[in-house]
Amino acid sequence: MSCRWLRVKVTMSAIDEVKQKTDIAEVIGQYVSLSKSGRTFRGLCPFHSEKHPSFFVYPEQGSWHCFGACNTGGDAFSFIMKKENIDFGEALRLLAERAGVSLPSRAEPSGMRDEKERLYQINEAATQFFHQLLLNSKETEKARNYVAKRGLSLETVTKFKLGYSLNSWEALKQHLEDIGYTKDELMTAGLIIEGENGATHDRFRNRLMFPLCDVRGHVTGFGARVLDDSLPKYINSPQTPVFDKSSTLYGINLAAPAIRTQDMVVIVEGYLDVITAHQHGFSNVIASMGTAVTEKQINTLKRLTKNVILALDADEAGEEAMLRCVGYENILVAEMKVITLPNGKDPDDVIGEDPTMWQHLIEQARPVVDYTFDMITAELDMTQAKDKTIATGKLLPIIAAIKEPIRQAHYLQKLARLVKVTERRLESELARIKPSPSRRWGAEPKQETTSQALHPMLSRPIEEYCLALLLQYPELKRYQPQPSPEHFENSENREIFTSWHQASDLPALKASLDPALREYLDYLLDYLKKKEVPTNQIERRYADCVLNLRKKYLQSLEVRRAEIFALEVELGGAGADLAKLKAEGIEPSTQLLEVFRQTRRKAKEPRDEIGQL
Ligand SMILES: [Zn+2]
Repeated sequence: MSCRWLRVKVTMSAIDEVKQKTDIAEVIGQYVSLSKSGRTFRGLCPFHSEKHPSFFVYPEQGSWHCFGACNTGGDAFSFIMKKENIDFGEALRLLAERAGVSLPSRAEPSGMRDEKERLYQINEAATQFFHQLLLNSKETEKARNYVAKRGLSLETVTKFKLGYSLNSWEALKQHLEDIGYTKDELMTAGLIIEGENGATHDRFRNRLMFPLCDVRGHVTGFGARVLDDSLPKYINSPQTPVFDKSSTLYGINLAAPAIRTQDMVVIVEGYLDVITAHQHGFSNVIASMGTAVTEKQINTLKRLTKNVILALDADEAGEEAMLRCVGYENILVAEMKVITLPNGKDPDDVIGEDPTMWQHLIEQARPVVDYTFDMITAELDMTQAKDKTIATGKLLPIIAAIKEPIRQAHYLQKLARLVKVTERRLESELARIKPSPSRRWGAEPKQETTSQALHPMLSRPIEEYCLALLLQYPELKRYQPQPSPEHFENSENREIFTSWHQASDLPALKASLDPALREYLDYLLDYLKKKEVPTNQIERRYADCVLNLRKKYLQSLEVRRAEIFALEVELGGAGADLAKLKAEGIEPSTQLLEVFRQTRRKAKEPRDEIGQL
């Protein structure tokens, strides 16, 4: 048997904790009067009307089943869902509360949501105020000239909602208070500052204003630039409940569609670089807020594309920055690329002078690590032993940081050729940098990240594998026969299965799922990542899963039915009841026979691993 199923998962998810702390007999006992019979409880089914109890609860398995008219079952979640007529998330929350488990919030507490909403509104009002001033005020003529000199069209100025803050201590403050915002709210939004004497004044004065937006287009804060030589040249909003500089990407709201369709993003440094790029039709360009790219920014971008190109000033790309990039490559699971700009020019200059030059630069983008090799060796003489040592000392840590084994091996070879020593020699050097080289060089990099660590109790590998296939290959949704939702014993799996059939695509699925399930979904999405299923095997494996799920379901039903039958006989049950139970048993048994027949047929075909489950 393949041991892919035997992944060790240690930490418990909140859902598992709820399950573990929930006594299903107690939960159902609140709705149904249950009597104990053997290891099970029985009662009158709450979902159909009956005189003789055919509703059973199995505390050990945490499940229930109605063998009567409903002929259905599930776990505590599905019972509550059905009984209270609520969705999975609501049932989960209800049971979590009972069990005293706290869950990731479904939505932010309304107070916090309201506060954020209010801050977006204030920022939007400030944006409009600054924007109107730039377009129309007598006092901002100098700024209008500046914008014109930079070659920005009115359309562009409007699209980016550029503005100007007057050379005044409280123009904005007065305006916003006039339209109903309080001083405290303006403080929270970071638009006013409290001076030493307790008086407040506008934070942004006499500056060109760049509204900063999140990916959905909410204005979260501002960047502001002076037009003369005074310092600081740029200031930003402070950290607020809606603004976090390290996760902000300038232009992301306007660039996201192009980043998605072109499957590529270019990160530049300045606001004006972004604006000029967009004006010339390079809409996949964003800026990193004048600082080095951060991990939060990479995580935001990862949802849009894996292909990230950095436009760097030649002087800023130090080894440390490159080392960080290699870390980001590990997050993106893709190579990052770099373009370097001709001596001392900004992207703004390059694009303004010749847009085709920009296009050319992008096409010539080089992988970060290759670029680092060039940069480091450019000033060294590789025939000198001393310089070889320097190059190795700088490049090996970067190579060591590469997680993907084949790429790592590639660059180790490259370095070996460059300094003319054997690879084996470098490998032992590398081993000294990395405490556990075996892991690095193993066939598959094992990431002990949350997604794998979060879900314990690997109890239903077929369900997980089946869902992983279905998520990875959405065309399988059209495959017939599909499993029935009931064939998933696990409520999370059942919920994801039914939601996926209702969702048009992955983003829609994510949006529809309860947040408590999202991490589990990510885990399922990762499940097949590292092993591509051969195209001609996909349907076959799915078919095997479907059959296996059905078999498992029917078998457990049969076992339970036999138990009940034995119990009835033991208790001297009425003949009519026994006959009825027997009759009800015929249908699943027939189905089960059919499943066995199909399984035998499959067994004669060439095997693949899922058949062994
Ligand atoms: Zn029933």
